[in-house]
Amino acid sequence: MPGTWGGRTAVTPTKHGDIYEIAQWYPRMAVYDDLRGWDTQPYLGAEFYLEYGSFDYAVTVPWDYLVAGSGELVNGAQVLTATQQQRLKQAAGSDRTVLIRTPAEVTDPASRPTRSGTQTWRFHMEHTRDVAFAASPAFVWDAARINLPDGKTSLAMSVYPVEGVGADKWNRSTEYVKGAIEHFSQWYPYPWPAAVNLGGHGAGMEYPGIVFDGYEDDKDVLFWITAHEIGHTWFPMIVGNNERRHAFMDEGFNTFIDVYASDAFNHGEYAPKRDSEYAPKGGNPVEEILPTLADASAPTLMDIADATAEKYRHPVTYFKGALGLVLLREQILGPERFDPAFRKYIATWAYRHPTPSDFFRFMESEAGEDLSWWWRGWYFNNWQLDLGVTSARYVEGDPAKGVTVALVARQKLVMPATVRLDYADGTHEDRRLPVETWIQRSTPELTFPTTKKLLKVSIDPDHKLPDADRSNNSVGVSG
Ligand SMILES: [Zn+2]
Repeated sequence: MPGTWGGRTAVTPTKHGDIYEIAQWYPRMAVYDDLRGWDTQPYLGAEFYLEYGSFDYAVTVPWDYLVAGSGELVNGAQVLTATQQQRLKQAAGSDRTVLIRTPAEVTDPASRPTRSGTQTWRFHMEHTRDVAFAASPAFVWDAARINLPDGKTSLAMSVYPVEGVGADKWNRSTEYVKGAIEHFSQWYPYPWPAAVNLGGHGAGMEYPGIVFDGYEDDKDVLFWITAHEIGHTWFPMIVGNNERRHAFMDEGFNTFIDVYASDAFNHGEYAPKRDSEYAPKGGNPVEEILPTLADASAPTLMDIADATAEKYRHPVTYFKGALGLVLLREQILGPERFDPAFRKYIATWAYRHPTPSDFFRFMESEAGEDLSWWWRGWYFNNWQLDLGVTSARYVEGDPAKGVTVALVARQKLVMPATVRLDYADGTHEDRRLPVETWIQRSTPELTFPTTKKLLKVSIDPDHKLPDADRSNNSVGVSG
């Protein structure tokens, strides 16, 4: 064992024995795609570009070890006790977490089928980019059923040392795995027979069918990291984008679906998602992103790669990447157009290798709208948005005849926006402006019908857009 290495492979001492996390332990063939032929970019310590296949692997360990791995355990009858096999069957039909090996049983030799020598654990997995596993004599093990679309099921499991046991800690891990996968499966059904969360040294690292998290994590942090690492099942494990070259299609896309997983889990117990990956200061994401957009030396989403300086890795790859899709879904297309298009994108590119252009073209085609202005501003450049209202005056000085509003886009990024008309009687009306408002001129003038006296006119009143300067967003109405 090389020791703890790069957050990918690790040995962690715990009270009842070491936990081994084993990943990237065998030679891999480079991907051959229709862009570059063999993509021979080397692994630099972070992310990968991998081809799909079917895997059979066997792990031989001392008799007292448990092994948790990617895919399906195919020789449970040999390596588990009769009690454990029976409990696993029970878990496969249970929405509540079932203990397969209790904390008290960890030190009990009767929790293993033999008392000497070694045992070989055999696993099988199909349509996968990789496999990884963890082994330890110290594992507590629990499981519950995952309910998938069309009546299908899978099995959520957690393995962790007794140090991770606790009502706010790993006792809830399997509930988090189950909740996250059931939510994410609305985009595309989880494809494998099991999903394992490992409580180990805490790299926060994803592999198909197993994720490596920290046994010391608890509460919202444990939920967010679990949902995030499990979310990588969809990007890049199912949609096999090139993580090395286009990091935002991995971390950004995953962080995007995580935002809604946090909203959905247990009626919003951990909503909204505000962590190191998304709005790390805990505030309004569109306002927190402004320093990144204003930083002239920040790389663009198209430029940022796996090897980019750490300073920009999270703000650009994760946060700007995720917020770009949140804005596309909520402000540009609306969920009714975005969601079916995004589902179809995942299904079309499942187990294949899309590039950013494939994604851009796919979304335009499915949504039925030219979005080149958005890709150009948000992905190919770090353009900023600064919409404003310059003036508002009644038509012919008469509140009954309407109001003419002069608007301005002071920066190069443009977006659809809401204009709010606040009336003197305390009511208001919102008008939605399409992005075409700004395409031909940066200072459009629009006339809105009104019947009564206005107080003020403002743009983006609910702070939904990453507007760089809000001091110019509203004006009083003059006669
Ligand atoms: Zn990630």
